[in-house]
This record gives sequence, structure tokens and C-alpha cells, in this order.
Amino acid sequence: MDAIETRDIVILGGGPAGAAAAAIAAGLGLDVLLIDKARFPRDKLCGGLFTGRALGEYRRIFRRDPPEGMFEERRAIRFFLGGLAMGRMEDVPPMYLTMRWDLDAHLLALARTAGAETRTGQRVAGIDLARDSLTLEDGTPIRYRVLIGADGVTSSVARALFGRPFDPATIGFALEKEMPPLADPDTARAVRVDFGAADWGYGWSFPKRGSTTVGVGGLQARNPDMKGNLHRYAATLEQGDAQGMKGHFLPFGDHRTRPGRGNVLLAGDAAGFVDPITGEGIAHALASGRKAAEAAARVLREGRPEGAAALYRSETRDIRLSLRIASLLRPIVFSKMMAPVFSRSFEGSTRVKGAYMRMLAGEVEYPALLWLVARRLPAAAWRSRGDRRGKRNYPSP
Ligand SMILES: Cc1cc2nc3c(=O)[nH]c(=O)nc-3n(C[C@H](O)[C@H](O)[C@H](O)COP(=O)(O)OP(=O)(O)OC[C@H]3O[C@@H](n4cnc5c(N)ncnc54)[C@H](O)[C@@H]3O)c2cc1C
Repeated sequence: MDAIETRDIVILGGGPAGAAAAAIAAGLGLDVLLIDKARFPRDKLCGGLFTGRALGEYRRIFRRDPPEGMFEERRAIRFFLGGLAMGRMEDVPPMYLTMRWDLDAHLLALARTAGAETRTGQRVAGIDLARDSLTLEDGTPIRYRVLIGADGVTSSVARALFGRPFDPATIGFALEKEMPPLADPDTARAVRVDFGAADWGYGWSFPKRGSTTVGVGGLQARNPDMKGNLHRYAATLEQGDAQGMKGHFLPFGDHRTRPGRGNVLLAGDAAGFVDPITGEGIAHALASGRKAAEAAARVLREGRPEGAAALYRSETRDIRLSLRIASLLRPIVFSKMMAPVFSRSFEGSTRVKGAYMRMLAGEVEYPALLWLVARRLPAAAWRSRGDRRGKRNYPSP
């Protein structure tokens, strides 16, 4: 009888989390197999905003700069609330725009160069946690010493571990459409963010070379008509209609406090590692993929794969703390009651906006932003009394 194929690490999913995990694990000399149901290049619905934080992780993991042409740099941003301009900022820390079609194929190629074996176009039909094995759709069984679930928001690995990949009551949902490129070069230099385009969420317009990625996203439970939100948002942008929009879940504010069990780990969206205010997930996907591979390598070296999840949990404490603080700040940013206060504090303070941008760039962490906002809240609440008496309107999405 043939022996069952056995690998040090099997990674399910070849997005940023899986590619990062594969590159790190292969670089550490482990026998790595990455499986993805898609063939690459493949699309993933995403704004394609790669922050300075993500770039830092990219450099750390792949030990190089991104290739020429992968990103378009933007150093200006415009904020709106309910259609009202809240300010434009120039010379903010750079934001990098890309298409996931290109980015993810590139990341996976880097993982292969590092020595990881990849099997794409292969769906996993079943996972048997008790036997440390999974079965591909064609019936091939594969054993693992450590399994990393980097298979996105609908993760089969999370389902095998916890019964379901996410809680429908707390999940986010986002819709996007690629619109024509912006004609005005000055407007096209700036990323646009619209608070209020969705309830407990926002809208975005990311101007790229060949198109403008326009989307809205927020908590699904609070946005029963998310399609209507995107139609209305697209109408305010006057760039075309939103017919043909696409949607995808966004694990937005309900991350796993235990991202794994025994020798099975969850990274990226599979662990819910998406910032509940900004919706940014690529940076945390790269970082958690790296940390999952590093934890797996260490426990395998020590001959105790069952210790992987405990080590990984402690190594991802910084990510979970950042997400927890963002969850605490979220009602200040998104709740209807706080909207006038938030807009006053945000609009009236270049320091708050600047800190928000530096936070996206990875230069400061959420605690600094929390402190800055908290200090400004009493004065902003006082000034916003007039707004609530009707001098200023905050249209509902
Ligand atoms: C509309 C939208 C806009 C967004 N915009 C941004 C943004 O601008 N910037 C940002 O930082 N983040 C953004 N995000 C979040 C970001 O897209 C995710 O956080 C990020 O893709 C997570 O990476 P990942 O590797 O964990 O998962 P994914 O990128 O989802 O990759 C998962 C991979 O697993 C594979 N897979 C799934 N199931 C299986 C299976 N059973 N067998 C084999 N393979 C499987 C999939 O084919 C896929 O390739 C956005 C999300 C949405 C929905």
C-alpha cells in the first residue's frame, strides 16, 4: 500500500496570508504544501489599498522591495461625511493602490521561489482533524504536522475547528464595482473615503491607472440594503452606475480570540483579522501568515506540533490588541449618536486625521489614536450641540 503523502506544513489558501506563511515556512527549511481552489492569477474582491503597514510586512517577509509597477502611490486623501467634505490632506504617508489579480499572483510566485510547493485549482473536500489529514476533491489524502487555514472569510478550516467560519450577526459585507478612471488629474491624485455611505461602515473611491475601485462596506446586520447604498454612493460620485457590482463578506470586528487549536492555526480573514474601522485586512493577513509559519517552525523543531496554537496565540497578541482597541473606537466613529461629535473632532483636527493616516502607515498604533480622540471628545461634543439642533445634516445611508 502507498504511504500517505505527509508534509510538515499544509497551508490552505494562497492569498496574502497563505503566501506569507508559505514563504516564511519554506525559508525556514520546512516541507510546505500550499493548496488553493483557484488558479492564479485570480480575482479577489478588494479595494487594493496596500498601506505602509502592509509594505513593511511585505519587506520583512519577502526581503525585497515590490517590483516596479505593482503599486501606484497616492499621497493625498479626501474625507467626506454624508456627502459633506471633511477636508483634503496632502503629503500624508503614502498609500499604495494595486489590483489583487496582480498582487496575489506575485505573492504566490514569491512563495514558490522561497521553496514552497503549490497546488492550485484544487479544492479541499474534507478535513479530518482527528487524523491530521485532509482530502482533495480528486480523493488524494494528505497528512500534515501543522495545518494553517489561510482560506479566507468562509474558511473550511475554521468550520472544521469551530463549527462555522463566522457569526452572521457580526459579519461585515462589502460591494464593489470597477468604474472608469477619473478624468480630473487633481481628483485622481487623492484617495476618497466617505463615512456614512454605509451604516457602521463607509464608502471608498480609489483612483487607479485603468479604473476607479468604488465600494461600500459595513456591518451586514445594519445594512439590509447594501446594494442601495452602493447605488446611492455611485450616484453622488457621478462616475457611472453601480450595475454589475460584486459582493464579498468582510470579517470586520469579530476576530477569533483563539485563532487555532492544537496543531491547526488560522491566519488572515480566516481568523477575522480585519480592522473593524478601516476594513484593512492585507497587512494583518501578511503578518499573521508570517507569525503562523514562525510558530509552526518552532514547535516542529521542538517536536511538539500540538503546541502550535498556544504559541501562535501569544505571538498574535499585538494584532488582537489592535483589533480590540479599534472595536472600542468603532462606536465613536460609526454610531449615529456620535456622528456629529466624531465629525467635529475629525474635521476640526488635522492631528486626528494625521494620526489616522500614520496609523494606516504603521507608524503609530491604535492606543495613540484612541488617546488623541479621547482628549478631543469633550470639546467636540460641546461644539456639536448646534449640529444636533439641526444646523447640519447627517444623511442616513
Ligand atoms: C470589498 C472588499 C474590499 C477590501 N479592500 C481592502 C483594501 O483596500 N485593503 C486591505 O488591506 N484590505 C481590504 N479588504 C480585506 C482584504 O481583502 C482581506 O482582508 C484579505 O484578502 C485577506 O487575505 P487572506 O489571505 O486572509 O484571504 P483571501 O485573500 O480571501 O485568500 C483566501 C484564499 O483561500 C482560497 N480558498 C478558500 N477556500 C478554499 C478551499 N476550501 N480550498 C482551497 N482554497 C480555498 C481562496 O481561493 C483564496 O485564494 C477588502 C475586502 C473586501 C471584501
